Amino acid sequence: MRDPRPHDFASYAMPVEKSLGRRYPEPRHPYRNEYVRDRDRIIHSRAFRRLENKTQVFTRRHSDHFRTRLTHTLEVAQISRTVAQALGLNTDLVEALALVHDVGHPPFGHSGEAILSRLMERYHDRFDHNLHALRIVETFEQKYAEFPGLNLTFEVREGIIKHSRDYDPKLYPELSEYRLDEQPPLEAQLIDLTDEITYNCADLDDGYESRLLTVPRVREAVPLFDRFYRAIERQYPTAIEKLKFNEALKRVLDTLVTDLIEATRERLRELKVRSVEQVRARGSRLAGLSPRLARENRRQKEFLHSSLYSHENISAEREKIVKRVEELFGYFMEHPRSLPARYFAKTKEEPVHRVVCDYTAGMTDNYLEEQRQKHLGGSGV
Ligand code: MG
Repeated sequence: MRDPRPHDFASYAMPVEKSLGRRYPEPRHPYRNEYVRDRDRIIHSRAFRRLENKTQVFTRRHSDHFRTRLTHTLEVAQISRTVAQALGLNTDLVEALALVHDVGHPPFGHSGEAILSRLMERYHDRFDHNLHALRIVETFEQKYAEFPGLNLTFEVREGIIKHSRDYDPKLYPELSEYRLDEQPPLEAQLIDLTDEITYNCADLDDGYESRLLTVPRVREAVPLFDRFYRAIERQYPTAIEKLKFNEALKRVLDTLVTDLIEATRERLRELKVRSVEQVRARGSRLAGLSPRLARENRRQKEFLHSSLYSHENISAEREKIVKRVEELFGYFMEHPRSLPARYFAKTKEEPVHRVVCDYTAGMTDNYLEEQRQKHLGGSGV
C-alpha cells in the first residue's frame, strides 16, 4: 500500500520507499510508513523512557527546571524537524533519528560516560555511546515475539552510528554493513548540528538559571549573544534581566538554526547535489553552519567548557559521581552473581566487564544510586 500522505521532499532527501528495510522482514502497516513506525517504536522503548532520569548537565538536586536527557531530546527533535522541513528533507526519518540520538548515554551525563570509558580501557575495551545505542535497539530492548530489539530500518541504525562521528572501517569491522566509507544521508548529518546548537543554547540558559553564569560574563565571552543583548536593552530598557537574557538567547538560537538551513541549502545548490546517492558519495559532510557562524558557535561552546562544565560546583559533584560509578562497577566485577539473572547469564558468552558496562550504562541516575546503596551502602549523591 502506498503512503497516503503526499511527499514534497527535495530530491536529495532520503525517501522511505528506498529504505534498505529491516533486519527481520515485517508486513507493512496500512497507514504508517517505515520511518514513522521506527519513531513510534523508539518512543515506546524503555531506553527512551529512561532518558527522563538521566542527567544532561545538571543533576536533579539543583532544580526541577533544568534539562534532562529527555527534554533535551525533545528540543533536538523539534529543532531538527524545523530544519528538515525547511530543507525539504524527510521529516519522519529526522524525527526518529533525533529521538533515538541519546538513548545510548549512561547515567550522569558526560561524567558517567567519561568514567565508563576509563574503566573499560583498563580491560583494553571501550565504551562508546553510539555503539551502545545500537546494542540497545538491536538486542537489549525485548518487546516483540518475532525478533530481538526494535528491528529498526537500516537508515535509522546507520544514523545512530554515523550521526556524530566517522568510524574507521579498519578499526570497526563489525560495523561493515553500515557502509562506513559513505556519508550518511542528510537527515542523519543534521542531528549532530542540531544537537550541538540545542545544548549550547540550553546550557547557557540552565547555566544562567543556576546562577553559575551571569549576564556580564556571557556577554563578554559570547559576542553573538552580546550583540543581541545590546539590541534588546535598547528595545526594552525597563525589562528585567531574565527577560532580556531570554530574548537575546532565543535570537542566538534562531540565528544558528537559520544559518544551518541557509548554509546547507547553499552548499547543496553550489555542488549541484540532487540525490541521496550523491550525498552518500561525497568525501565530506554537506550539512553545516557557515564558517562565520561556526566560529561563533565554537566560541559559545568553548565558553561553556571553560566556565560552566568545569565550574567548581559542577566538577565537585562530578568527582562524587565518578567515584560512585567506579565503586558500583568494581562491585559487580567482583560479584557478577549480584547482576540480574539475565545479565549474569550473558557472562558465559561475553567478558564480564562488557556485561557490567552494559548493565551500568543502561541505568538511570536514580537507579544507579539505588543499586549503589543496596550493594555498598552509604548516603546519596
Ligand atoms: Mg544530545
